[in-house]
Amino acid sequence: MGVYISVPFCRTKCTYCNFASDVISRMVFEGYVNQLCGEIQNTFETTAKMEVRTESMVDSIYLGGGTPTVLEPAQLERIFATVRSQFDVRADAEITVECAPGTLSTSMLDCLLRCGVNRVSLGVQSFVDEEARAVGRLHNREIVFDDIARLRSAGISNINIDLIAGLPHQALQSWEFSLAETIRAGVPHVSVYMLEVDEESRLGRELIAGGTRYHAHFAPDEHAVADFYLAACERLEVSGIAQYEISNFAREGCESRHNSKYWQRQPYLGFGLDAHSMLLSTAPGIDAIRLARPDSLEDYMKGTSSLRASPVSQQAALEECFFLGLRLTRGVDLRNLAQTFGEAAISHARAAVGELVADGLMAQRGNLACLTAKGRLLSNEAFERFIMANKSQIE
Ligand code: SF4
Repeated sequence: MGVYISVPFCRTKCTYCNFASDVISRMVFEGYVNQLCGEIQNTFETTAKMEVRTESMVDSIYLGGGTPTVLEPAQLERIFATVRSQFDVRADAEITVECAPGTLSTSMLDCLLRCGVNRVSLGVQSFVDEEARAVGRLHNREIVFDDIARLRSAGISNINIDLIAGLPHQALQSWEFSLAETIRAGVPHVSVYMLEVDEESRLGRELIAGGTRYHAHFAPDEHAVADFYLAACERLEVSGIAQYEISNFAREGCESRHNSKYWQRQPYLGFGLDAHSMLLSTAPGIDAIRLARPDSLEDYMKGTSSLRASPVSQQAALEECFFLGLRLTRGVDLRNLAQTFGEAAISHARAAVGELVADGLMAQRGNLACLTAKGRLLSNEAFERFIMANKSQIE
C-alpha cells in the first residue's frame, strides 16, 4: 500500500499551476493538520464500510501538494506520527516530500530526517533565473544547488528535480542549459513535464486568450516544446538517466516506487484536500474503487463534504491498464492482460495496437507493446484509440 498526503499550501501561486493549492494564512495550517490526522486515524473505520481490500503494511509515503515544507516542523512530525500509528511503515519504505527550493531551513531539514524522509523532490522547473522568476518561483539557481548540497550532507541523496518545458522566455539554448545543470547536479531522478495549457491556471488562460499577462507572449510554441521534450529524452538518456515513464527519468534502481504504483494500478490511500485513493475491490464484477476527497478547502475544513466513491468495472480496469501502463517505457504485457481479463476482452485492444504500430505510435516485441518516441509525444491520441477499442468491444 502507498500513502499520499496533500498539503495544499504554497508561499506564492505559480502562474502555470493548475493544482488545488493556494497561498493561505498560516492560521489555517493547524486546523488543516487536525482534519488530515483525523482522516488518517479513521482509515480502517471508513474502509470497513466498503467492499475493498485494505492492508496496514505501507512501503511508500508521498507528501505533495502544494509545498509541504511550508508547515511548521511540529505539524509535519504530527502527520508522520499519525501515519505510523495507523500503518506498519516498512523499514525500507520510500518516504518522499516535495520541497520548493529555498524552504529547507536547518530546522526543516532536521525535522524531515526525524520523520524518516529519505527522498526529496525539488520543484526547480528551470535553472534560468529569469524563467523561474517570470512564473512566480521564489528561488534561483544558486539556492537549488545549495539545497542539493545540504540534502546530501544530511544523508538524503535520493533527490528528484522537476523541470517544465514550455515556460515563458524558454528557448532551445536556455532549455539545454537547464538540462545541463540538472545533469551536473548529479541527481538520480528527473521529471520533465510539458507545460499544460488549460483554463485551470492563470498562464494557461492567458495563453488561450492570446494575451500578454504573465509573460504569455514569451512562451514557446507547441512545436518548440515538443523539441525541448525530445532533447530532454536524449540528453538524460546519454547521461545514464533513462526514461522509464512519459515524464520520468531515473538512474537504474532509483525509479519512484510511489509513483510507479499509480501506473501499475497498485493500491494507495490519499489523505487531504483533493487527494485520491485506489483500493482493490472484493465485490463481484468490480475491479477497484477510486475515492476522491473534496477539492474545495472550505468544504474540506468543514468536514461536511463526503468522500466520493467511483467503482471501476472490469472493462474500465482494462482501459486503465492500457492508458496507465503505456505511460511506462516498458509498456504493457498483452499476455498478462489476457490472463487477467480474458483473451476475448483484449481482442479489440490487440487490433488497436496493430493500427498504432502501423502509424508509428507504438512498437511491439513479443507480448510487450509500448509507445514509440512519437507515441509518447502524441500519447493522448494513442490512449483515445484504446478507449474507443474498449467501447466498441462493449457495444
Ligand atoms: S509551488 Fe507547486 S503547487 Fe505551489 S503554486 Fe507552485 S506549482 Fe503550484
